[in-house]
Amino acid sequence: MAGEFCCNYAALCMTLTIKEKIEQLRDTIRYHDRRYYLENNPEITDYEYDQLIQELQHLEKTHPDLITADSPTQRVGGEPLTQFATIDHKIPMLSIDNTYSDKELKEFDQRIKRMAGIDTHRDIEYVVELKIDGVAVTLWFEKGLFVRGATRGDGFKGDDVTANLRTIRQIPLKLESPDRRQKIPSVLEIRGEIYLPNKEFQRLNDDREEAGEPQFANPRNAAAGTLKLLDPRITAKRRLCIFAYAIGYFEELELTTHRDCLEMLRGFGLPVNPHTRLCENIEKVIQYCKDWDKRRSELDYMVDGMVIKVNSLALHGRLGATSKAPRWVISYKYQPEQAITKLEEIDIQVGKTGTITPVANLTPVLLAGTTVSRATLHNFEEICRKDIRVGDYVVVQKAGEIIPQVVSVLKEKRTGKERIFHEPATCPECKSTVSKDGVYLRCHNPLCLSQAKRRIQYFASRHAMDIEGFGPALVEQLVDKGFLKDYADIYYLKFDDLVNLERMGEKSASNVMHAVEESKNRDLDRLICALGISNVGFHTAEVLANHFDSLDTLANATQEELEEIYEIGPVVAESIVDFFRNEHTRDIIEKLKAGGVNTKKLVSQKFVKNPKVAGKSFVITGTLQKYSRDEAEALIKNSGGRLISSVSKKTDYLVVGEDPGSKLDKARELNVHILDEEAFEKMIK
Ligand SMILES: [Zn+2]
Repeated sequence: MAGEFCCNYAALCMTLTIKEKIEQLRDTIRYHDRRYYLENNPEITDYEYDQLIQELQHLEKTHPDLITADSPTQRVGGEPLTQFATIDHKIPMLSIDNTYSDKELKEFDQRIKRMAGIDTHRDIEYVVELKIDGVAVTLWFEKGLFVRGATRGDGFKGDDVTANLRTIRQIPLKLESPDRRQKIPSVLEIRGEIYLPNKEFQRLNDDREEAGEPQFANPRNAAAGTLKLLDPRITAKRRLCIFAYAIGYFEELELTTHRDCLEMLRGFGLPVNPHTRLCENIEKVIQYCKDWDKRRSELDYMVDGMVIKVNSLALHGRLGATSKAPRWVISYKYQPEQAITKLEEIDIQVGKTGTITPVANLTPVLLAGTTVSRATLHNFEEICRKDIRVGDYVVVQKAGEIIPQVVSVLKEKRTGKERIFHEPATCPECKSTVSKDGVYLRCHNPLCLSQAKRRIQYFASRHAMDIEGFGPALVEQLVDKGFLKDYADIYYLKFDDLVNLERMGEKSASNVMHAVEESKNRDLDRLICALGISNVGFHTAEVLANHFDSLDTLANATQEELEEIYEIGPVVAESIVDFFRNEHTRDIIEKLKAGGVNTKKLVSQKFVKNPKVAGKSFVITGTLQKYSRDEAEALIKNSGGRLISSVSKKTDYLVVGEDPGSKLDKARELNVHILDEEAFEKMIK
């Protein structure tokens, strides 16, 4: 590597060139951050991105004097904090008044005209923004560099969460003005809403369930909790996002409208919500608010209303603020979506790691466009606190929650026949005594069949070893009959074990045997995922498989080696080390190997297999007939192809199914090769 920079002069010259190389890498990474987080149009895969980061990390490690605070490698700082410092807001972060009706919005418009001395027949321009259900923060930039950030707190002072905010890749560590139209001010305070996308929320909760940790009730709580973590390395893994919506304190800026202000923020490299709209009068505002009430469920983040701001900044000055809220802004809140139904039974679930949670079985009811028949009850203390009884009529809600929850009980509808539910003293499966773990109950029996069932189901599931026909019902029977004790036993099943089971003929039995046989050749990432290591989900498994060439090398990795991998922090590293240290685990892995399961990385061999696909980038749009989205993606990946989420000039192929989205237009515009399902199939086979 060094040879590239070497010249015959002194070390000085070499340092300069390495410095240049580092600068260049940083610029490249910032460029790709922008493509990914702002334009939603990545040009390279996550893997390639990680390679850039690793290269930069390597160079900085050998030249620590060249590390600067705004380097993309410096997002995750050193040691965890012991507590947060308090920061006084230079300009208070006031709250916003709420309205719930058109009438109140019209009154707001009238009030503003009256106070500002504007004729009631003249229109006022408003900027209407989605009200993201997240956590408000303030970001302080000096000379374009991000120096600190804080939570809203009580509006006057908040917690210094700079270290956590630095981990959010959407927040530029250095403001940029690519077209140089806008000078970067010496001091600029930016306000924004931190949120967790629904998909991330789901992933986080899945991981937490796997790890036996309590789940977050909704994305907002998850975002707030993540922002208040004392260890930024954990924050970094949760992939928080931000929308910037205003500026606070600033120096050297001239702006006349709120809209200009948002445009400026966008120009500096901050994400501004794309659905923000300038409305010429209050009628248009009302219409836009109503439109989004219907559409908000399409978004990948939670929206609980709209924020309406006067566009003219001169008017902001004239209107001023009350002690609680500015007068030039108001929010229009959406009603939470609720329904009333009967709670028929309370089921008890035992998770993979033994967590025991109650679930409400409901008379099916329509809620926010979907039929709901189950709702979470969180934990047993919650049932007690809300006095929920079997047979009660309950209010279920989906407000800021993806999973519906039971909000309250209609006690006036009680007939006296309702049954009080008692917290179980034993595990519903293995009958061993359960113990309290915070607000949760847990079965600690390592031989608990219910946990074994969950682990085996997970092992065989589509995201893991993908054994077709090996669903929950089959696992249930095989465990109950004693044919399976752990997932390695799958590879020792005999045709005779299967054929005598309920609802299983010779044909199905041989299909299952065939699927089991085929699953022996899954790639390393799937196997790592399937093992069910705490804190290691699908994505982390991919990261690990990228780094290690076999299960053995992963199993022998030390905590330190693991932590050196980008994206792997101490908690995950510890889970992995603990997992492989366990004697029981070692036995199971030996059993898997003896059963013929592949434990080595296969990708390099696959590249040779299909040269038409290998190294090419693919985007999929619309619904395919023969393959689910997951299957199509797996086919591409297994053949050495790369998947990209959106179409760019560098995309090689767009695979088009029924009902394609706007990606098709874009692909045509950019002359990207378009494959219909038939052509895709031909290529992949
Ligand atoms: Zn149990």
